[in-house]
Amino acid sequence: MATERTLSILKPDATRRNLTGKINAKFEEAGLRIIAQKRLQLSVAQAEAFYGVHRERGFFRDLVTFMVSGPVVAQVLEGEGAVARNREIMGATNPANAAPGTIRQEFAESIEANSVHGSDSAENAATEIAFFFSGIEIVG
Ligand code: GDP
Repeated sequence: MATERTLSILKPDATRRNLTGKINAKFEEAGLRIIAQKRLQLSVAQAEAFYGVHRERGFFRDLVTFMVSGPVVAQVLEGEGAVARNREIMGATNPANAAPGTIRQEFAESIEANSVHGSDSAENAATEIAFFFSGIEIVG
């Protein structure tokens, strides 16, 4: 499988509980490399733009409010099949359905405050990485 890059976000529930290091250890132990990382406070407009595909979903307004409720950590992860690998490490969207050992099973508070975002395809990863990072900020 080819080396890929994916966009990861540690969500406000994770930064609020000081879990950046514990979650990063999960990625690194699984063989993904953190090749870019920054902590930032999203604006409402930025959160709406990032989650634009969910604009018609019933939870969109709640999701945006949650994503601006505190700092996030945006990251680029690199490794073999990184998009799918990161989805495995994250676990299911709803922590009640997340497999043992996954980030969401261990750390998520709810289906909304589920600690991490990860791109769901290589195509979306490229778009999402460009949303947060310029080329000079990514050091593979
Ligand atoms: P993901 O790819 O696993 O993050 O899941 P989705 O793309 O389906 O949803 C994006 C994000 O919206 C999730 O990570 C949750 O934070 C939130 N979300 C998903 N489903 C629900 C829901 O039913 N209710 C609420 N409040 N938030 C949800």
